[in-house]
Amino acid sequence: MKILIVEDEQHLADGLRFNLEAEGYEAVIAGDGLVALETLESKKFDAVVLDVMLPGADGFEVARTMRERADYTPILMLTARGHAEDVLNGFAAGADDYLPKPFELEIFLARLNGLLRRRQWLETESKTPSVVMVNGREIDLENLEMRNGDEHVRLTLMEAKLLGYLIENEGRAVSRKVILEEVWHLQEDTDTRAIDNFIVRLRRMLEDEPDNPKIVQTVRGVGYRYINQAVE
Ligand code: CA
Repeated sequence: MKILIVEDEQHLADGLRFNLEAEGYEAVIAGDGLVALETLESKKFDAVVLDVMLPGADGFEVARTMRERADYTPILMLTARGHAEDVLNGFAAGADDYLPKPFELEIFLARLNGLLRRRQWLETESKTPSVVMVNGREIDLENLEMRNGDEHVRLTLMEAKLLGYLIENEGRAVSRKVILEEVWHLQEDTDTRAIDNFIVRLRRMLEDEPDNPKIVQTVRGVGYRYINQAVE
């Protein structure tokens, strides 16, 4: 497994590389956003650990550029603690997961392993058929894409996994806490707004009127419920 560490704080980058190598990963450091984008053009990685504040191009720009280039390598974004907007901007730019700084090394490794496992989960396990039709849209959960006529949208790993989970639980209300545990494998210390942001993105993809959702419904006081048939 090859990991690209995009981090301009040399001591942190070196520490992460040292520990990744100790775990059997191959790790490469880029201390600048533009250098990272160049490196990604010439080499293939299994995951990218991406800091937000960087010289050259910031983490959001790096993530956005990767996705625009159709590079869907999983991204773990390193955000500043307490900056919810970093998390939301990161997901909007195409990050798959985030970790607030400063963090414990074990948590970092667990998150990264989780990200790599989820990639494998999508590639190997298929609890639901990989192509599903939702509201006239064709969704390929394995290849992470949604087609609606000429419209062609790429899903991130987490969007696909969340949607797969909602589909498995069709008709049932699922709480944010359960979603965090089952989909993200996270305990409740995580900001649940991250989920809401994913729901907004799924609705934009699936609903005729995202502001008046019929498919990914809000269940007040509980969480969300997925109903495939658009109901009157
Ligand atoms: Ca930085």
